[in-house]
Amino acid sequence: MPGEAPPIDPELARVIAETRGFMPDDEGAALRRWAFEALTRVPSGPIIEVGSYCGRSTLWLADAARIAGGHVVTVDHHRGSEEIQPGWEHHDPEVVDPRSGRMDTLPHLRRTLERAGMEDLVTVVVGQSSVAGGLVRSGASMLFIDGGHGDAEARVDAATWLDHVAPGGLLAIHDVYPDPADGGRPPYERIYRPAVDSGRFVELAAVGSLRLLERSR
Ligand code: SAH
Ligand code: MG
Repeated sequence: MPGEAPPIDPELARVIAETRGFMPDDEGAALRRWAFEALTRVPSGPIIEVGSYCGRSTLWLADAARIAGGHVVTVDHHRGSEEIQPGWEHHDPEVVDPRSGRMDTLPHLRRTLERAGMEDLVTVVVGQSSVAGGLVRSGASMLFIDGGHGDAEARVDAATWLDHVAPGGLLAIHDVYPDPADGGRPPYERIYRPAVDSGRFVELAAVGSLRLLERSR
C-alpha cells in the first residue's frame, strides 16, 4: 500500500465535532482512510458524495482530498430526507428556514466548509440526486452513498450512481443493516445487495453501518 494518510489535524477534528450530522467518529475516520486509498487507486477521479447534509461526512472526505490532491463533489437537495422532517425522530429544528418553514441545510454546509478552509476542495451540487447523476462526470475514485433512505430513493440512487465508480475505484455505503432489527433496509436491500450481486463489486471492509466495496477492474 502506497502509504497512509497522516493523523487528522486537531483543529479540523474540532470543526467536525461541532458539525451536525449522522456520521460517528470511527466511521468518519474510516471514510477518510478509504478516500485516501481511493485516490491512490484512481488519482484523477473525483470523490462523489450523495447526501451532504451539513457537511460532517464531507469534511473527512475533503481532508483526504486535500492530502492526496483530489476533489470532492457533494450532492444534496438540502430539503432533508423523509426521516428527518419536522415531527420525525432525527429532525433538528435548527436546520429549518424560518422564512419558509422547510428544511434548508445548504447554509450549514457552506459554513462548515468555510470554517474548515475547504471551500476550494469541495464542489457543492444542489439538486435531486437522480438528476445530478446524469450531469456529474463519471470515473469516480470513490462514491459515498448516504442520501435518501426510502425504498424508492435508494433504488434510484443505485441505478443512478453505481456506474460512476471507476474500475478499481471504491464504493462506500452508509446505514447498511443486513439485520432488520438494527435499522431500515433500503440501503442494504436496494444498494449494497444489488452492487454485490451484480458481481461488479466486492466487499473489502466494514465499520459500523459503513460498507466498503471495490469495483472490479
Ligand atoms: N452524509 C451526511 C448525512 C446525510 S443525511 C452526514 O453523515 O453527515 C441524507 C441527506 O440526503 C439529507 O441531507 C437529504 O436532504 C439528502 N437527500 C435525500 N434524498 C435526496 C435526493 N433524492 N436527492 C438529493 N438529496 C437527497
Ligand atoms: Mg447515514
